[in-house]
Amino acid sequence: MTNNNNGSSEFDVVIVGAGFAGMYQLKRMREASFSAVVLETADDVGGTWYWNRYPGARCDILTVDYSYSWDRELEKEWVWSERYATQPEILRYAQFVADKHDLRRDIRFNTRVNAARWDEEQRRWVITTNDGGQLNARYYVMATGCLSMPKVPDVAGSERFTGEVYFTSTWPHDGVDFSGKRVGVIGTGSSAVQSIPLIAEQCEQLTVFQRTPNFAIPARNGAISEERIAAYKKDPVAYREEARWSEIGVPRERPQLSALQVSEEERSARYEAMWEEGELRAVGAVYNDILTNADANDTMRRFINDKIRAKVDDPAIAELLCPDNHYVASKRPCLDTNYFETYNLPHVKLLDLRDDPIATITETGIDTGKASFEFDAIVFATGFDAMTGALVGVDIIGSDGLTLRDAWDHGPQTYLGLMSVGFPNLFMITGPGSPSVLSNMMVSIEQHVDLITDTLVSLREKDFDRIEPTELAQSRWVEHNNEFADLTLMPSANSWYMGANVPGKPQVFLPYIGGVDRYRTACDEVVARNYLGFALNGPSGQQVNDGIIRELKPDVQLLLEAIAELDLPPMETMGVDGARQFMIESGASMPPGPDVGEIMDGTLSGADRSALEYRLYRPPSGGPHPITVYFHGGGWVLGNAITDDPLCRYLCLHSDSIVISVNYRHAPEARFPAAADDGLAAVTWVSEHAQELGGVPGRLAVAGWSAGGNVAAVAAQQARFAGGPEICGQVLLCPATDGTDRRPSHHENAENLGLTLSLMDWFWDNYCDEGNRSDPKASPLLARDLSGLPPALVLTCQFDPLRDEGDAYADALKGAGVKVRHLECEGQIHTSIPAVDVVVTAEYAREAMATALREFFGEPSPVSSGL
Ligand code: FAD
Ligand code: NAP
Repeated sequence: MTNNNNGSSEFDVVIVGAGFAGMYQLKRMREASFSAVVLETADDVGGTWYWNRYPGARCDILTVDYSYSWDRELEKEWVWSERYATQPEILRYAQFVADKHDLRRDIRFNTRVNAARWDEEQRRWVITTNDGGQLNARYYVMATGCLSMPKVPDVAGSERFTGEVYFTSTWPHDGVDFSGKRVGVIGTGSSAVQSIPLIAEQCEQLTVFQRTPNFAIPARNGAISEERIAAYKKDPVAYREEARWSEIGVPRERPQLSALQVSEEERSARYEAMWEEGELRAVGAVYNDILTNADANDTMRRFINDKIRAKVDDPAIAELLCPDNHYVASKRPCLDTNYFETYNLPHVKLLDLRDDPIATITETGIDTGKASFEFDAIVFATGFDAMTGALVGVDIIGSDGLTLRDAWDHGPQTYLGLMSVGFPNLFMITGPGSPSVLSNMMVSIEQHVDLITDTLVSLREKDFDRIEPTELAQSRWVEHNNEFADLTLMPSANSWYMGANVPGKPQVFLPYIGGVDRYRTACDEVVARNYLGFALNGPSGQQVNDGIIRELKPDVQLLLEAIAELDLPPMETMGVDGARQFMIESGASMPPGPDVGEIMDGTLSGADRSALEYRLYRPPSGGPHPITVYFHGGGWVLGNAITDDPLCRYLCLHSDSIVISVNYRHAPEARFPAAADDGLAAVTWVSEHAQELGGVPGRLAVAGWSAGGNVAAVAAQQARFAGGPEICGQVLLCPATDGTDRRPSHHENAENLGLTLSLMDWFWDNYCDEGNRSDPKASPLLARDLSGLPPALVLTCQFDPLRDEGDAYADALKGAGVKVRHLECEGQIHTSIPAVDVVVTAEYAREAMATALREFFGEPSPVSSGL
């Protein structure tokens, strides 16, 4: 393959953009012997660091981390002068790399890509540039940057001003002298926070127009600490590897502690340490719930705002500078040097646009509703059309004639933030749906470039020449992204992460928030699973490996990761007492569930005159109430009346029924049929004592989870055989229904998903002899006749070993003419639904349980349960 860029128009790969992404992509293409060219609007390399030359421009990730890791020699040749290098220094670094690797030879500068069209017949991209030139290439890589398309000014009259106009994002190369000038700055994001102190140093008068105050912590720039250098120098390869597998691309452990778990003193001490550290990574690394819990976030908000108040002399100005309408880090926080102190200078004025919005820009300045300002220069620090702007800024037409802009009309659709359906062979570096702007971008850029390169090499080796994600893979990745973001406070802010800064832009959370480490794991898995979610074809034929890379709901994934971290022995090896103790302790560490009206403990008569403890949960509303008799999970061996406390509270509150959770007898002390018999006895006792308990006689339902679902189902069957008590409905959550057979879900979900197959086997062995398992009192699915049973809601979870037993029971009930709603919970595991306030993606399932109960009781319900 040739690699001659002299006037050639045919390439294996066209790369757009000569920032850090495009430069490294070119290097890797050359090494892999692909012919490649880079097209770049600017007249030199550097991207972000070429364009953003405003005073004070620096990186906000320590430069030792924000640098290439792929050239070991370079790491020794280039020594950064300070913690956060300036724009000129970073630009020199980019130029140094370009020189060292002779990159410019294959870069066409002053060349803007205007359009790109996929030619299906030729299987090539046809690319048109601003000079009318046309190139074509098998593969097309957009290394166009996430923060490279300046936001078009959306301030009325912005074209009218006759004085000097500057944009931080396209600053003049010769710099600007503000001496003796009256300057207005619009915006208070990172670019403004960096430039305002330096503009103020020069100019005669400065007025800052602030729409949203921003959180900023001191950068504490200066020499990089010996400690950090030592950490890096000790083993640079390991250091970089740690960065690649970290949350944001900078080595640091994920925090384990909640901000709400510690004393006020401890919290303040940790926040002080964060304040002293002067690194953005510290903000997310103090507590584990800053981005997910509004109260936790509020503790940090108050701390930072107090610091702002301490820096600003005028209390009224200080208040204006304290962010109060978004959570810390839900908009990109800033690192500052003398930003807040600048407002103490007599010639610097802050104008709060929330109180007095800009009416128009005039020939001579800016008019707000209340005042007119005259300026010699106006600086727009108004940001970017981030993440998608540069991509849809090119008129890209895909395989079905649709433009990328139209395809993304409702928000970007990507698989892994790397490719998009309908746009074969088009790769995006750090595209929407990848960690990109939430990470040290250098790490994310390198990961994408390496992934793209390895993919192209793999396609070549297998004689494929076309790659495109599948619809399913893409739509589920987008869903996964949104679900992850929805677990956090991030979507609540009017941020550029949400596209909220650009009028008319669809508002979706753009980057992937799961972290660099989880993202890398997902990408590696896609490759290891033979390009899962991609359709490949070429001369050698085609390979469509349709599938979903992340099927577990993100909060379930987080829960399983937390459990795995504990590295516990399997429960079945703990012994019966050990396992019981463990279940009680782990339950105690979960959120308590909602408050109810009253909680009462009592004892009822079980079968064989056994005394069974119960806990009664009464709703806050005035009684009498219908009653739900609830049977807890725990494999007939573990648990008691209070181990499913959060779920019982939830069901009580939301179904407006009394929930009576019964501690039926457990194995191995009381083996089959003790639990089954106790189930019926408890229901009978409650029915007979309904009035005393504050219930409505005759309005009784049963519910249960797992083995408790088995007990509830058996109780409903036994009550029908016995001719009473009358049960008006059953809610069966992941019920065990058949101990005689192996089903696919037993094998598919045997391990690592909470309930394991071997634990389930241990439960059965403790509970019931093999010979008794075909008794319907043990395996309700095997009952000969299921007709006449009360209506049922059966909930099964996709990643539960018991899934197929529950599915089979729902089908069998339906087959017998019972009114059934079967809710198959995608992406959930056996323990998801009882995890109130932990697995929030299962909230709809809990709601469905409560709704079903209300309907069984004939109570009005806000939504239909579908029964
Ligand atoms: P860019 O550097 O944006 O380069 C894209 C290039 O593509 C540009 O040169 C552009 O001219 C060119 N281009 C775009 N469209 C076309 C077209 N149609 N035709 C031809 N050429 C085109 N990230 C961090 O991780 N840490 C930081 O500290 C940090 N600081 C930042 C400071 C500022 C002021 C800004 C704006 C961003 C900062 N970022 C930071 C994000 C930064 O953008 C990335 O770190 C990184 O530089 C992006 O590199 P890139 O090559 O992907 O894109
Ligand atoms: P930005 O964060 O989007 O800030 C733009 C500012 O302009 C905001 O204060 C915004 O207010 C305001 N604004 C926009 N339109 C306005 C209007 N019509 N009227 C009044 N005010 C308006 O942009 P940025 O400062 O250029 O930074 C963008 C990103 O680049 C950063 O978040 C960061 O990722 C990166 N960056 C990093 C550094 C660094 O320190 N290394 C420096 C600069 C940039 P609202 O908030 O109300 O929209």
